[in-house]
Amino acid sequence: MTLNSFLRNKRLWLVALLLVALALPLLLRFWPENAPTSPPSSPTPVPAKQVNVPLFQADSAFYFVEKQVAFGPRVPGTAAHKKCAAWLVKEFKRFGLEVIEQPFVAKTYFGLRDAVNIIAQYHPERANRILLCAHWDSRHIADKDSVDTDKPILGADDGGSGVAVLLELARLLQQHPLERVGVDFVLFDAEDLGDDRTEAGQSVMLQAVQDQKTLTWCLGSQHWARTPHRPGYTAQFGILLDMVGARGALFPREGYSAQQAPVLQNRIWAIAQELGYGNLFIDRLGGYITDDHVFVMRGLRIPVVNIIGIPNSPPAAFGAHHHTHRDNLEVIDRNILGVVGHVVATVLYRAAAGAF
Ligand SMILES: [Zn+2]
Repeated sequence: MTLNSFLRNKRLWLVALLLVALALPLLLRFWPENAPTSPPSSPTPVPAKQVNVPLFQADSAFYFVEKQVAFGPRVPGTAAHKKCAAWLVKEFKRFGLEVIEQPFVAKTYFGLRDAVNIIAQYHPERANRILLCAHWDSRHIADKDSVDTDKPILGADDGGSGVAVLLELARLLQQHPLERVGVDFVLFDAEDLGDDRTEAGQSVMLQAVQDQKTLTWCLGSQHWARTPHRPGYTAQFGILLDMVGARGALFPREGYSAQQAPVLQNRIWAIAQELGYGNLFIDRLGGYITDDHVFVMRGLRIPVVNIIGIPNSPPAAFGAHHHTHRDNLEVIDRNILGVVGHVVATVLYRAAAGAF
């Protein structure tokens, strides 16, 4: 076969074209990356501004858990609860924040209880604000335990850990002031007094009963979302911390946050990944948790992402210590507090520098 007859042969042409088409991606893949290229037509992009994030002290956060647990269970209406509230207010004031106490009567499924939301404001005069929140009460019963199920729990992780990280962040802000943005630390009360009993004989009314039961949780955030400490309160975004200190914790993407604040959640998880915590801030959906952020998003239209420890799959998704007497200081791993604190501090200082 001569060259001419080859060029004239349509079938061979098609085969040759096909071979080139198949080989092209391979060629491109193995093209050396440092192969000389023509000079870029536009100047190389300036690297993102380097933001200095002060070191979050995990030991200090652990100390704040210890202090809370030392009061005993912080159940609304008890002396320990009152004493802890006074201490929290004092600590925030010590860090130079303006504190507002917002008392309310919590209508729990077992009666009325005196409760108080605690709001600590960093630069209250600034319009551009970030909301950081956690619940500070501890559960009135140990309904997932096998002993003393009617006794309140210490809530070192469930309650104590989130508050501890926020206190340490408040301390950090005093030592390393933020530019331009204000921060509100909102500690919700009466989050954990909800009705978790399974009821027999539910069928037709199941959904309605479930909806009613859902409203027995998060009483402090429900109250604050209806009547925030400042009328018309808003923030550019919020982060909720709940159960962020237990040994073996994992932070998958909580469902309501993924659904209603996906951009914010993506950014936070990307920062965690970048800081080397991809093994803890795992990239999977972790179930839908009715928590304080749901009511803040619903009531005030502020995107809020819940960082919450969900180490297992349903039905027992929370840690084994959840709502038991094992939720004490022994379950707290200061490294976990440190990871969460590092991530939130990075979000905060980058947001203030316009780099988030
Ligand atoms: Zn709880």
